Amino acid sequence: MAMVTKTIKLGVHREIHEIKRQAILHTQTLYNRVIAFYMDFFVAHLSVLDEKVAYTKKNGEQAERNWTNQELLTFAEVHTLSTKAHPHPIWPLYTSLPEGMPTDLRRAAINHANGKVKGWYTLLQQWEEGGKKGGQPQLGEPNEPVTFYASMVDYPELDLSPQVKTQHTFIAVKLWYEGQWQMVPLPIVLPKYAQNTLAASQEESRRIKSETESIKARKAPKEKLTSEERAVLRPQVWVALSLSIYVKRDKQYPNHTRFALHVPFEKYIETPKKAKDQLQLDSGLPVVTVDLGVNRLAVMGAFVNHELIATKFIHGGELNHKRHLLLNVINKKRAQSGRLQSGVQDNQALWAKVRNMDDNAARQVARQIVNFAIEHDAHVIVLEYLRGYRAPKEKMSRSGRKNHKRAYWLRGQIMEWVRDLAFREGILTVERNPAYTSQMCPHCQAEYRHVGVRIKHTFTCSNPNHHYGADADFVGMMNLYRKWQRTFSYPSKKSKKDEPKPTQAIA
Ligand SMILES: [Zn+2]
Repeated sequence: MAMVTKTIKLGVHREIHEIKRQAILHTQTLYNRVIAFYMDFFVAHLSVLDEKVAYTKKNGEQAERNWTNQELLTFAEVHTLSTKAHPHPIWPLYTSLPEGMPTDLRRAAINHANGKVKGWYTLLQQWEEGGKKGGQPQLGEPNEPVTFYASMVDYPELDLSPQVKTQHTFIAVKLWYEGQWQMVPLPIVLPKYAQNTLAASQEESRRIKSETESIKARKAPKEKLTSEERAVLRPQVWVALSLSIYVKRDKQYPNHTRFALHVPFEKYIETPKKAKDQLQLDSGLPVVTVDLGVNRLAVMGAFVNHELIATKFIHGGELNHKRHLLLNVINKKRAQSGRLQSGVQDNQALWAKVRNMDDNAARQVARQIVNFAIEHDAHVIVLEYLRGYRAPKEKMSRSGRKNHKRAYWLRGQIMEWVRDLAFREGILTVERNPAYTSQMCPHCQAEYRHVGVRIKHTFTCSNPNHHYGADADFVGMMNLYRKWQRTFSYPSKKSKKDEPKPTQAIA
């Protein structure tokens, strides 16, 4: 079992009321003041970070450990908050801050402060042990997004109405609003997928809650949970955790500020079994193979019981074309300005555009690949592993070469996203050697082990008894399945000399 996480970002509506806007900003300021307060507190008590606590291991051995975050939190609260037992704390929090801050918000701040001080303290110790080379590590001022634990958030009851693509709704969070802490509904733009994820999360939370109650009811107090019971209580679908509110500068928004809620989700997945074990259990198990290319960003095939049951192509021509145009503009501008000047706004903006375009494309292609695998119930995605970059042999313009390189880099990005997204779905990603995948006939290679002829994007089988031509990327995808099955045969060395050299085309 493994826990996986993802974050959904929800935009706060741009026309948010001015009073609410101020409330968010004010809350963030207060929150960071509390973090700064506790950072000071921990810096004044650095010795507790070094202090060891003796404890007994499960096997009865004696061992030492550092204070846990929970213990540090209690320690900080005892010395900063006034209680009946301790009416006069040594380091009171509420001398300069408005009282009654929600407990969860204060605890989030303490945890933030503790994390920041710990990180800085470790660096400081390393710096001192390393002979104080370089600048001394600085702690810095906190500038954290406000974190809202569950008790400080009210989600609307979401229904799964299929017609609505994007819903405008309200998510209420507890803010410092008009002189007191209160729930303030923020207008949110909720796209369909976020709506579905949140609705499923609400249902799963209810399930976990009722399971918890029924398990508690049948247990003696303090009786430990069995592993089955713990498994039942783990989120099986994405469940929302405490969210954070981010403040971003954005010229297109009133007052140049844009707010976004970042909602992290988690769920438990079965860690996928190793490729070898999966193959051994069922050699015909559903598999998706993917050939990543330039003109075709991806060619996917779904195989079940050694048969191709579905294919999907994602074309990249338009992306390449657009990128090429942008790179041309950049080159022209560079030529006009004579020498390269770093920090020229125009080119920066253009480069940002190119990067954005590629990032989006990588994410979208990866998402489609993983969705394709889910659709066909595949537990394995087979990709070619990426070889080092080789410049194209034919003549190309400067921007053409750059474009080629970026397209190659994009493949790496797509693969990274596929691995990440697939893992979250419990799908295994494997990589196979790309040698000859788009040069051998996927159908008759067992008896005819010669490379085929490749002209541009078309592959033609050179076997005189087999009339077969297909898209080279498609052939690559087919052969990847053979590589997965370990039935791919490389061209026989004996016959290689007599073969006409296959036309080298760019992959
Ligand atoms: Zn053939």
